[in-house]
Amino acid sequence: MPELPEVETIKRELEKAILGKKITEVLVNNPKVIKEPKKEEFAKGLKSATIKNILRKGKLLIFELASGKSLAAHLKMTGQLIYPGDTKQSRVSFKLSDGKWLDFNDRRLMGELRLLTDWRALKFVKELGPEPFDLEERQFKKMLAGKKARIKPLIMDQTFISGMGNLYAAEALFKAKINPLRSAFSLSDKEKNALLAAIKSILKNAIKQGGSSVDKYVQLSGKPGGYVRYLKVYYRAGKPCYVCGMPIERIALAGRGTYYCPKCQK
Ligand SMILES: [Zn+2]
Repeated sequence: MPELPEVETIKRELEKAILGKKITEVLVNNPKVIKEPKKEEFAKGLKSATIKNILRKGKLLIFELASGKSLAAHLKMTGQLIYPGDTKQSRVSFKLSDGKWLDFNDRRLMGELRLLTDWRALKFVKELGPEPFDLEERQFKKMLAGKKARIKPLIMDQTFISGMGNLYAAEALFKAKINPLRSAFSLSDKEKNALLAAIKSILKNAIKQGGSSVDKYVQLSGKPGGYVRYLKVYYRAGKPCYVCGMPIERIALAGRGTYYCPKCQK
């Protein structure tokens, strides 16, 4: 699933590619990804809209339109935004004033498109936890205090901290040398600081590399992201830890495959 670095990569590419352009046509190949309003109103509301601003909130992309409305796009598991597209595999495509298409592809049809009057009123946005880059040590320590939840599912909880999913949570915990099964409150102050620093540096480097293409994620141009070669534990079950040589383990935790080094992560 695209996480913060992947969505941020697409956002930055979109800013360069389509900002200020007008949507001249909306092609709906499969209305299942349109969550609100109804397909006809969605298409009508977007026609002739100029894209004024592009924002990211957690894993959500928001296209602010000159009309005051916004188009919100969540890629979920297999969503892709491709520009210039060819509409062949897309669920919904937007023709722009430059004559090119912006494709929303989504093989598993779990993605979500919404045309909104006020994106700030969206439940998902209202419930979002803070952006990792905005967090300071003192605030992060306070957030973890007294929390009985295990640390890995907690940092993947979008209402606790926004943007991280399974991949970057595993990588951050490895970098901070923290076992994913630990309860949040059991972390020492030093470990909490190490974890916040690891989260920030890993997300920053992943953005620099254009994200991780481990599944369907590609950049706006269709090119894969380059961060996979930097992964230390994710998808490396049975392979030797780069630090100590012990095989990386894979366990199920809160329903997700969780990769970690049993020796390095205490
Ligand atoms: Zn190790």
